[in-house]
Amino acid sequence: MSSPQTPIVTPLPCFLDNYIWHIETSQGDWVVDPGDAQVVLAYQAKRGKPLAGVLITHHHLDHTAGIAALVEAFAMPVYGPSEVREGISNYIKVDDVLTLDGMGSVQVLDVAAHTLGHIAYYLKGHDLLFCGDSLFSAGCGRLFEGTPTDLARVMSTLSALPAVTVIFPTHEYTAANIRFAEAIEPDNNELKHYAHKVAAWRAKNQPSLPTHLALELAINPFLRSHESTVVAAASTYAGKPLQPGEQTLATLRAWKDVF
Ligand SMILES: [Zn+2]
Repeated sequence: MSSPQTPIVTPLPCFLDNYIWHIETSQGDWVVDPGDAQVVLAYQAKRGKPLAGVLITHHHLDHTAGIAALVEAFAMPVYGPSEVREGISNYIKVDDVLTLDGMGSVQVLDVAAHTLGHIAYYLKGHDLLFCGDSLFSAGCGRLFEGTPTDLARVMSTLSALPAVTVIFPTHEYTAANIRFAEAIEPDNNELKHYAHKVAAWRAKNQPSLPTHLALELAINPFLRSHESTVVAAASTYAGKPLQPGEQTLATLRAWKDVF
């Protein structure tokens, strides 16, 4: 499946459950959302290479706090959305298509809901998606700034990507998300199977990520708000019949916040 040109993506764990995604391309190394510069500096020292650039998805500090020290260490561009006030050298907007060394064509997707300026980077030629906190495996980001309407739009944008898309979220939340997903769809066999796999990986302290879209469409309740099983579970929780889509999503998100 991998050609020589396919970037090699490696998780650099930091803080309690964050991953800084390291993208090794034939033309240089990049990182996504470096909340902690030391982790990246140590990794580049081991590789004996500078960093070619940084991609930022949204303004939260656990995604941005390492920018200043990395810019000081390496002369390189930092791409990000306008909601990030400091450290960005190349401001980008939704629907921009960037051509980045070694990554080819990178499409900037609007995934604003967790925060209002949140973007995702889709490496079109390689079917790789760096989605920050917009989507997690078996879950999605909390609505800190956006509304359920925003969340519904984001879920439909992400659902429309090719099913083979490999997805790189920023947090290791999968096991907890699966517990919630199992409460919604206890009879989902793919979910049961995935729960076993994730439990085995986490027992060995291995990352559960990346994930891929085909799997998420089968197990992630936030991508399944049109499925009758998911609508029924949300309706029971709400104590009234809900419409598929946005209404169901709003209830799922509020339920997950207190689960
Ligand atoms: Zn965040």
